[in-house]
Amino acid sequence: PFRRAARISEVELSEIIQISEAAAALKREGRDVISLGTGEPDFPTPQHVVAAAHEAAMRGETTYTPTAGTPVLRAAIAAACERENGYRPEQAQVIVSAGAKQVIFNAFFATLDAGDEVILAAPYWTSYPDMISVCGGTPVIVAAGAEAGFKLTPAALAGAITERTRWVLLNSPGNPSGAVYSPAELSALAGVLRDAPHVGILVDEIYQHICYVPFASFRTVAPDLAERTLIVNGVSKSYAMTGWRIGWGIGPRRLIDAMAAVQGQVTSGASSVSQAAALAAISGDQQLLAERNDDFRDRRDIVQAALNATGLIRCGSADGAFYLFPDCTATFGKTAPDGTRIERDADFTAALLRAEGVALVPGRAFGLPGHFRLSYAYSRTSLTEACARIARFCQSLA
Ligand code: PLP
Repeated sequence: PFRRAARISEVELSEIIQISEAAAALKREGRDVISLGTGEPDFPTPQHVVAAAHEAAMRGETTYTPTAGTPVLRAAIAAACERENGYRPEQAQVIVSAGAKQVIFNAFFATLDAGDEVILAAPYWTSYPDMISVCGGTPVIVAAGAEAGFKLTPAALAGAITERTRWVLLNSPGNPSGAVYSPAELSALAGVLRDAPHVGILVDEIYQHICYVPFASFRTVAPDLAERTLIVNGVSKSYAMTGWRIGWGIGPRRLIDAMAAVQGQVTSGASSVSQAAALAAISGDQQLLAERNDDFRDRRDIVQAALNATGLIRCGSADGAFYLFPDCTATFGKTAPDGTRIERDADFTAALLRAEGVALVPGRAFGLPGHFRLSYAYSRTSLTEACARIARFCQSLA
């Protein structure tokens, strides 16, 4: 009875998880493995946030909350939005879900019919195409290589829009590239979208606070498109709260209501205790964001310089998130000491894992082969050691 339904027949365990599992298996064998594979801040959740959750639980905030989130958290999200991005949504335009991931899923599930198209640039966060497919839509993937700064250009966007397009999906700062759209770039995309009134704009800004250039929200740059824009954000990355599962969407009321209808049948709403924690995070002291941001920037610089010093890996700069997405094509055609001939990014990452115990994710998982993703949300000791091993591996290639 448990054959897979057609709508999930194509969905596989993500390559990122497969690599984490391969790394864990090597560790169990006693190998010294450094995994730079996952996208999770290594900082702890701030103490005052944990305390607020504890207090909420002790006060009895342990029951179902309204489906779209507690009024006090939704109001605080609106206030944070005004403070940080200069616009204040109404409370009814905000929905809180179990992570940014559920916000995006709800939006697609609530709006896509079979054959509806969603435009996104590659490299992309691996979950996007799968979520689109599971919801019955068709991902329309536009290549955005290093020459385009890993960003969707207005011409590429214009060329991809059809009458079946329901959404264009933007992610800034981006996973896996770290690319950040400037206000001018967002404005140019908005210019194309003004001529396509049937297209919704989903903007994933989950890495807003991990950004080394001034951050610009699409919603701020193009306020006239607010009626068809959904902004996605959350506490997972900014406040080191991945396990608390709180994200939110800000959009037009009709869409938010439809997303709440989906959520009502899936989770009934996000955890009450986690919502209290998120409230403390976004309403409390924000100084830690800047401190952690500086720390991430410093780690980026260390890793980027070390990778470029190998001579075989080309690593451009990344303005945000905590990822680098270097090019490893100069290793193609070379042979590793164990005899593996490197012909693709996945050969490079697999041979590196075997030889030196460093786990990275090949670019093909993100729709752009020839690269790999490295997350630098790890300790400086791990990063320095991993870079030394990558350099040794590169030197060993013949
Ligand atoms: N969006 C992007 C681009 C991500 O990289 C991630 C996590 O890796 C998410 C959303 C998911 O965030 P959350 O933990 O809030 O579901």
